[in-house]
Amino acid sequence: MANGEESCRGLVLRSTDIGDHDKLLTVLTAERGKLTICAKGAHSLKSKYMPVSQQFIYGDYTFREKGEGRWLKEGSIVESFFSVRAELTRLAAASYMMGVAEVIALEEEPDPELLRLCLNSLHLLAADKYPVSQVKAVFELLAVSGAGFAPDLGSCAGCGKRTPYPAVFDLAGGVVFCSDCVKKREQAARFGEAEEGYSVPAPLTPGVADALRHILSGADNPFAFRLPEEDLRLLCDICERYLLLQLDMNFKTLDFYHEVTAS
Ligand SMILES: [Zn+2]
Repeated sequence: MANGEESCRGLVLRSTDIGDHDKLLTVLTAERGKLTICAKGAHSLKSKYMPVSQQFIYGDYTFREKGEGRWLKEGSIVESFFSVRAELTRLAAASYMMGVAEVIALEEEPDPELLRLCLNSLHLLAADKYPVSQVKAVFELLAVSGAGFAPDLGSCAGCGKRTPYPAVFDLAGGVVFCSDCVKKREQAARFGEAEEGYSVPAPLTPGVADALRHILSGADNPFAFRLPEEDLRLLCDICERYLLLQLDMNFKTLDFYHEVTAS
């Protein structure tokens, strides 16, 4: 590398306008986590930086690092994921995912799994192979788990028994309860004796429990499963609420996704 120049391969999670001419790129890399790089003049259609300065571009970036800042010198596209822009639901889901990744990723903290998850999710959205809501749900559960909030779906948090089909997922505690423990708790609550229980319970069906476990199993393709429409809706609701609760955040891009999918 020429003096003071560095390079990285990464995915543009966000491209923010600075003034009328420049853009600030938030790039997710495998080796250095999240980096911000200023692309001078990237607004102009004539700028060589313009094509590589767009959201969803996976590219090679060479930049000069000076003090706190980084200035783009060269960039080339590895993959553009441009087709996610062709359809509003896919675009809304992809934008939301990039926002989640931006919150989770840390600067100078390698996170190759998060980058791989983002790239795989964008690939699948672009390929239109699975329902958008399914890709979004798998992304949410894996992203939040990778950030240190993996739920424990193995055995019942009440009695410790390994249950093939837990009845309730406590979204706040990240644990599951078997149907016996759920009944006991409901009875105790009726007599005003409820000891500490789950705070945000989400009822599970066997299909949803299986899907959650598949996603977290480390399978080669965590996205590969099929659920009936009603179960898929429940899974999506659970994964979204789990992420929002654990990260304690709201996302404007998620509101937009819901606006788009409601119509
Ligand atoms: Zn139990």
